[in-house]
Amino acid sequence: MHTPVRYITVTAPDGEVIGYAWGSATDVGWIHRAASSSSAYKAGMEWCSKVQDAHRRGLAPAGVLALFSREPGAGPVTEAPDLDTVEELARVVTPADDQRLLDQLKPADHPAWQELAEAFDALTDEDRAVKWGGGHRTSSGAIHVRFPIYSEPLMRAVRALWDLGAVTPEYRWTGNPLPQVPPSGRLDPADAVRAATAVLRSERFCDGMIEDAVRTGLLDAVADSLRAWHADPAIARCFAARRSGAGTGHGTPAPAAVRPGAGERAVRPRQTVFLCRYCGAGPAADVAFRAHRGLLFVLGFRRMDGPMCRVCGVAVHRALTTHTLCWGWWSPLSLFLFGPLTLVRNLLAVRRVKRLPEPGPGTLGERFDPGRPVHRRLRAYIALVPLSWLLSLIAAAVIRGG
Ligand SMILES: [Zn+2]
Repeated sequence: MHTPVRYITVTAPDGEVIGYAWGSATDVGWIHRAASSSSAYKAGMEWCSKVQDAHRRGLAPAGVLALFSREPGAGPVTEAPDLDTVEELARVVTPADDQRLLDQLKPADHPAWQELAEAFDALTDEDRAVKWGGGHRTSSGAIHVRFPIYSEPLMRAVRALWDLGAVTPEYRWTGNPLPQVPPSGRLDPADAVRAATAVLRSERFCDGMIEDAVRTGLLDAVADSLRAWHADPAIARCFAARRSGAGTGHGTPAPAAVRPGAGERAVRPRQTVFLCRYCGAGPAADVAFRAHRGLLFVLGFRRMDGPMCRVCGVAVHRALTTHTLCWGWWSPLSLFLFGPLTLVRNLLAVRRVKRLPEPGPGTLGERFDPGRPVHRRLRAYIALVPLSWLLSLIAAAVIRGG
């Protein structure tokens, strides 16, 4: 059943999307972004309870969204054809997500890399043919649970992956599918970290996960991928570029397929620089817009990251620039530094966005409404107050000096 929902996109100060607060006619909820960092996940938990508390206190779903869309980091209320569409948006994996996982690995000159190479080179076919123990009846009559018997060289290889940082809390493996070895046999280095984390952590809960990964070749693919990346970090960029191109490899849906057809679900849609983060249409530019608010000694900064299509980019630009024109002047630092800086950066970003052709049909619901241009918004003219005050100070000084 397709019931339209409204949602707001919540972004951390560093530009990472934390998740989505949604509201239907009767209910509200929160969806974490599956690939988000652990800090974003924590922030998402707070958003989750905030949104639900407001609803429990009697605020209607539309009111909850309207209320929280004014909070720092929250985007405008957007419409989606159904909740599935928002959930799909939450499964998008960005190049920044990949990079965060690779950042968990030890530095290139750390001995853990040498140990990884030696441990995997030392593995024999016998080590890879894992045998199982247990399964027999003990003298008391109980049946001994079966368990895999891992050889010492195999355990050394496993330890090497742990020591390298390839098993990291930055990947929430319980909420994501286990990466598979692509037909090419070459695993994306960030997927290698995901696979290492999922396999080695899940072995603690379920015997035989490592055995499974050895048998399917996943564990070797993990080590190969990490070693290749260590030898040449440009490989990660190569994967990122291939992912951005049409018809991406290794089972990732092409950008055009981010919205799956009826009855099928994309397993792991990935965002590319060519698709708008907000409406899912292409082409899009990788830009960020900023807003600044300064009130005496309290300074506020807000940033919305792309990629954005022409329409969404212009809409975000107009909203944040008007906000800055209105609020970005009321502290000394704001007047002379942050206000003007924010406006100039937004101007540079909107130029890039305006060079794009009109976007195609959006795949993630309605896109932002650009609304009136900045010069036709009353709030923008608040900027004239501090500027005229500044001019009058200068004029007064000139007159006195003359
Ligand atoms: Zn858009």
